[in-house]
Amino acid sequence: MGMDQHGRTIDYLRLSITDRCNLRCLYCMPEEGVPPKSHDAMLTLEEIASFVAIAASEGFSRVRLTGGEPLVRLGVVDLVAQIARTPGIERVAMTTNGILLPKYAAALKEAGLDRVNISLDTLDPQQYAHITRRGDINGVFAGIDTALEVGFNPVKVNAVVIRSLGQDLLAFARLSCDRPLHMRFIEYMPVGASQGEHGLGWSKKDTIPNEELIELLDEQAQAAGLGRLIPLTEGSRPEGWGPARYYRFEGAQGTVGFISALSRHFCGECNRLRITAEGRLRPCLFSDLEFDVKAALRSGDNDKVRRILREALTAKPDEHHYQVGTERLMSQIGG
Ligand code: SAM
Ligand code: SF4
Repeated sequence: MGMDQHGRTIDYLRLSITDRCNLRCLYCMPEEGVPPKSHDAMLTLEEIASFVAIAASEGFSRVRLTGGEPLVRLGVVDLVAQIARTPGIERVAMTTNGILLPKYAAALKEAGLDRVNISLDTLDPQQYAHITRRGDINGVFAGIDTALEVGFNPVKVNAVVIRSLGQDLLAFARLSCDRPLHMRFIEYMPVGASQGEHGLGWSKKDTIPNEELIELLDEQAQAAGLGRLIPLTEGSRPEGWGPARYYRFEGAQGTVGFISALSRHFCGECNRLRITAEGRLRPCLFSDLEFDVKAALRSGDNDKVRRILREALTAKPDEHHYQVGTERLMSQIGG
């Protein structure tokens, strides 16, 4: 099992398998998309699978595929199958915008994907089209239905909350009551904010700290007759690999979670390493320090890949020290 300098067990690998996407969320990607990269600049699916096998031999047991949008990468189902078969890999998950799930969910389940997180920042069709600059919300609703139908469990829905958007929090709360969905509110983070003069527009006042959000939702839910947020204890929370705090409403089928990387940063519990689609290992989401494993993978020198992996673990900082803004966009890192 991988252990870092600060005694943390690092066994969770987040793989960004593409930096492309079929949406253009305001806070994640510029309207024109990311500049196209040469085929050679990106890891091939075979290279990704070899990297996972090497990481598994170093103690990584959980893998999440992300992006960009992982489902726009051709061959993604075969990649999932290959990763799921890798000795040492116990669980495979995916974070997706859900649009292509109606097409792929059954095949992904068959291939060995265990669970999906679906990103959906609003339940209002017009606001969704505005945030994603091009998305049809009905596609995501169909994606959620298919994910539940084919038996992914748990199915989590992630919403980034941005103060100036004024999202309807109660609508999400009701979703968690009516369906077996685990709704999670994510604090808006300053990733990619150093791009361009004003980055993609992140500002501190747009981040609603979790404590404030919990209070707000609790108040609104009581006023609407949904009752109070009931904190969940270990064992009654949906299974997960991250640091969310979970609650539910009385009689609800699903739960409500809050994830805060800023106001209550969880660096002490950080269990992950990230790799970009170009084969760069990132020890911390908020730091632009990266280790290039692509050349080592291409040379077939697995020991070198192992050495780089260990170096990256050693370089994991104890915490992010509120560093604001990264060179890379979230669509390039994978969230
Ligand atoms: N395209 C997939 C999706 O949207 O689920 C996977 C990649 S996306 C980069 C992963 C997650 O990062 C999404 O849930 C997205 O909302 C979140 N994200 C992107 N930029 C963010 C930011 N600045 N702060 C917080 N979350 C962000
Ligand atoms: Fe695409 Fe996901 Fe970024 Fe939205 S958040 S632009 S869906 S990568």
